[in-house]
Amino acid sequence: MLVFASFLPRAAVVVALLSSLTAAAQTASTAPELVLLRPAAVFDGQDRHEGWVVLVEGSRIKAVGPAAQIAAPATARLMELPGLTLLPGLIEGHSHLLLHPYNETPWNDQVLLESQALRVARATAHARRTLEAGFTTARDLGSEGAGYADVGLKQAIDQNLIPGPRLLVATRALVATGSYGPKLATDVDVPQGAQEADGVDGIIRAVREQIGKGADVIKVYADYRWGANEPARPTFTQDELNLIVRTANSAGRPVVAHASTPEGMRRATLAGVETIEHGDAGTPEIFRLMKQRGVALCPTVAAGDAISRYRGWQPGQPLPERLVQQRASMRAALQSGVTLAVGGDVGVFPHGDNVRELELLVQDYGLPPLTVLRGATSGNARIFHLTDRGTLAAGFLADIIAVPADPTQDLAALRQIKLVMKGGVIYKNL
Ligand SMILES: [Zn+2]
Repeated sequence: MLVFASFLPRAAVVVALLSSLTAAAQTASTAPELVLLRPAAVFDGQDRHEGWVVLVEGSRIKAVGPAAQIAAPATARLMELPGLTLLPGLIEGHSHLLLHPYNETPWNDQVLLESQALRVARATAHARRTLEAGFTTARDLGSEGAGYADVGLKQAIDQNLIPGPRLLVATRALVATGSYGPKLATDVDVPQGAQEADGVDGIIRAVREQIGKGADVIKVYADYRWGANEPARPTFTQDELNLIVRTANSAGRPVVAHASTPEGMRRATLAGVETIEHGDAGTPEIFRLMKQRGVALCPTVAAGDAISRYRGWQPGQPLPERLVQQRASMRAALQSGVTLAVGGDVGVFPHGDNVRELELLVQDYGLPPLTVLRGATSGNARIFHLTDRGTLAAGFLADIIAVPADPTQDLAALRQIKLVMKGGVIYKNL
């Protein structure tokens, strides 16, 4: 090299040197970085283990276990996290990144008066807050009138244009004609918060259209209030729901159902949906049927709580009818042993405050913190078929968060997220 260099013009030497440096840099950056995380303890999605460490290689976890048993090469970067517990990134089971709290702007006005550009811009901020709150995955269940904006949002996150959780998106969601909203004067047809579809041809076409445009899951409203001042009633027929599930499943997509009435829940369960959202008026019989058929309940208790507060209720006052019903329904659900998905319907309340659902399940519904933590990590991952996350183990995605103390004893720790890593990349490090 040196021999030849003496014959070469100076500029050529510089170029040769630069290109060899660049090659060296490329070699270095393509070898996945090793990071050894040394916290006080690791909650692996099931249990908390003191003295464990996690070795991350690139975007995945290479090893997890007692510090003495994990041999990290000398090249590994060490991250000391004294006093902290590592957890799998939390999984939000029910979000609407394209909505913001109804006490800021009523739902009707968000759907009808806000431009899609405004809604998307706002959603990018929501995505960042969700990630920084420790939620590295979210199942986003409907764009609520914003078309396929959730698909674009997911792409922007995946392409690292904006920070946000990994998304499963439902796109427009399906409603029976006339059953949803907004509803104004009868003489005007206004854009709806979901896609209307009916009958064999209409339903097959709508399901396929949503899948073709990027839906990871199909969401259907199995019941809703047909008029402003009436209770929810079933919307789609049993045959229609069966067809929705058959069409979606044949394309490898699960179906989830919004349902709060016993009949809506029953039809959705018999049709073969995988989760029922809300379930506010569920009965012991319905929950037994759901358990039998392997359908999980995502109770969204934080949404019921938020809406009650927007209507003037304060904790400490007698419970409004809505919450009385929700408490009774949850009691029956817990007794039945139906599987619980953990998701708050966040968007009804502020994004970034996702952990509210977990807190209320403990405070108001008596679930142990450990059960709720398992639900929001490995439990949700199992229900949503996310086999690469929700657990800290070798081969899983390096979606990892750190909190003080012991969150399996007290969920208050989740209000102090110290570290957020997604796919091995650090998004927050306090
Ligand atoms: Zn929702």
